[in-house]
Amino acid sequence: MSLSDHYLSNEQLIAVLSLTKVATAIHVTEDAVIQLANEAMLKVWDKDSSVIGKSLEDALPELKGQPFIDLFKRVWNEGITISGTDTPADLIVDGELRTVYFDFEYRAIKNPEGKTICILHTANDITDRFMGKQAMELAVEREEALQREQVLNEELAAANEELSAINEEYQQTQESLHSLNIELEERVFDRTLKLFNSQEALEKLNTELLASENKLDQILSQLPAPVVVLSGPNQIITTTNESLLDFWNKTREEVLGKPMLEVFPELKSQPFPSLWKHVLDTGETIIHREKPVTFNKANGVKRLYYVDYYYQPLAGADGIRHAVLATVIDVTDKVLSRQQVEQAEAKLRMAIDSSQLGTWYYDLEKDEYTFSDRLKEIFGFYPGEEMSNEAATNQITDEYRAEVIQSVNDAIKNSTNYEIEYTIKGFHDKEIRWIRATGKLYPAQGNSPANFSGTIMDITDRKADEQRKDDFISIASHELKTPTTALKASLQLLDRMKEKPSPIFPKLIEQSNKSIDKITALIDELLNSTRTTEGQLHLTKTTFTVTDMLNGCCNHVRAAGKHKLITQGDKHLQVFADEHRIDQVVVNLVNNAVKYAPDSTEIYLIVAHEDDMVKISVKDTGPGINPDKLPHLFDRYYRADYAGSQYSGLGLGLYISSEIVKRHGGQIGVDTELGKGSTFWFTLPLN
Ligand code: ADP
Repeated sequence: MSLSDHYLSNEQLIAVLSLTKVATAIHVTEDAVIQLANEAMLKVWDKDSSVIGKSLEDALPELKGQPFIDLFKRVWNEGITISGTDTPADLIVDGELRTVYFDFEYRAIKNPEGKTICILHTANDITDRFMGKQAMELAVEREEALQREQVLNEELAAANEELSAINEEYQQTQESLHSLNIELEERVFDRTLKLFNSQEALEKLNTELLASENKLDQILSQLPAPVVVLSGPNQIITTTNESLLDFWNKTREEVLGKPMLEVFPELKSQPFPSLWKHVLDTGETIIHREKPVTFNKANGVKRLYYVDYYYQPLAGADGIRHAVLATVIDVTDKVLSRQQVEQAEAKLRMAIDSSQLGTWYYDLEKDEYTFSDRLKEIFGFYPGEEMSNEAATNQITDEYRAEVIQSVNDAIKNSTNYEIEYTIKGFHDKEIRWIRATGKLYPAQGNSPANFSGTIMDITDRKADEQRKDDFISIASHELKTPTTALKASLQLLDRMKEKPSPIFPKLIEQSNKSIDKITALIDELLNSTRTTEGQLHLTKTTFTVTDMLNGCCNHVRAAGKHKLITQGDKHLQVFADEHRIDQVVVNLVNNAVKYAPDSTEIYLIVAHEDDMVKISVKDTGPGINPDKLPHLFDRYYRADYAGSQYSGLGLGLYISSEIVKRHGGQIGVDTELGKGSTFWFTLPLN
């Protein structure tokens, strides 16, 4: 048997192929008429062999509207193969439309000419596999979802926790907010209440303030002290009173509501505006006393006043300073009278100083003495030295001490003036001095206690002067008495002889004339002295030659012949002076030389030219003068040796001479040496 004998017939072949598990069908024509469909395909389709010979659409009408029929058309017409996997198809299975999943292939089988002769349709029902896969995928998806859910859950839990924490916090916050709210509400309530109360209080205060401001105004206007309220930085006068208006000499209308410096522009240049500003800025109070202030009076004249002022800050209920309260007290009278007292005191002090008065003060309450330096000096202590009252009392000479103590006690006891002159012996210098003490009891007054005070004056010179005056009177009386007695005797004799004149008659007349001359000379001297003292010494100046004047003077001495007058020096020197008075001076000096240096037979009259002066000297070779007498030689009534009264004289010659020379602008003096003689000299200006 040949191989071909073994070949199956087409039908056999088809029958065998039909048995394959792979669902297979063969379609022809464009409409996919089913020529062959194996059991597997029929099963897929859930159809029987009746479908053979039918177009696909007819065989499976449910495919209408699905893509498959059109796909067959394309495969037939285009000769292509179309395949698909996991492709769903809706088929009627067991009488109901189900979705079945296939892997399929529509393959065009072509003849050698390339023309499609049939379509080989294979299909594999993968619905189970697909479903399993889908279930698997679903499971995986679920798993993943689960996992995601887990993670989410965890996150959620964490978030939850967080949330719950936040929640808790929130809760707490809410709670505290709540309590805060309550508290707040309470507070608001409280505040409102307080506000309400305070508003009430404020209103009350305001009313009170208004009342008190009115009261303040009333008080201020009634105050005797002058006050003004200066408000704000512009220092507006908001309140003042009559007392200050009087001082200002202004009316209320002229000042109220106006800036202080507008009313008193003259204050701008004075320190007050800056002081008011300071008080307002810092709140400090300023108190100044007795400060000068100048106001312009209505007539434009500036007038100086002295005032005490107190600048105090004024603050409102809010504590803010808004004004300055100025109290201004006019103390001009007080200051001026004190200045007068001070001036008087200063004058008194000057007077005390210049008069060389010592002062003392006894505080009766403290039983304490105070002595001035000058007083200590008078008592012979050093100016700064300690000196007790007892020490001072000890210096009073014995004969006066008890009397002085008694006088002081009496004056204090009887409130009488105390006045006494006594002698003291200087503590250090042991000099006896005359002093005059005066005092008075001053009762306690104000700040000063009851005191007994007064002055002490060194009157030694005055006492000596008085002594000399007393001596002078006795000397003058004595000097006058001698010629007067002689004159009286001559006159008595003449009277007795008047009936029968005797040869001594002319002699008696001559003696009487001499006595009268002597008396006249003495009276002249006295008169000159008085005139000199009273400043009535008039000078009649002419120009004359000094030597000529000297040669013409003192003819009585020359005539007496006992002394020789020798003129020396510049013979031509001329002076402009009162020749008669200068002659009188030279006669005085020559007379003294004759009187006090009787043995000096030669008396020199010397003329010398010294600078712009002429010096005229009278030189004797007599006994000279004791140096301790020199300081008083030219004083009035001074006679160096009056006690001896060996020589007559009034002690006025040198005094008068010195006054004449001084009136000419010259000087007078003496150079003397005991046992050798004296040179009295004086100078005169040449022109
Ligand atoms: P009176 O001559 O009247 O006493 P005076 O004033 O002239 O007064 O002189 C004062 C005193 O000066 C005299 O008392 C005498 O003691 C003294 N005196 C004046 N001239 C001389 C002199 N030339 N020599 C010594 N003593 C003199």
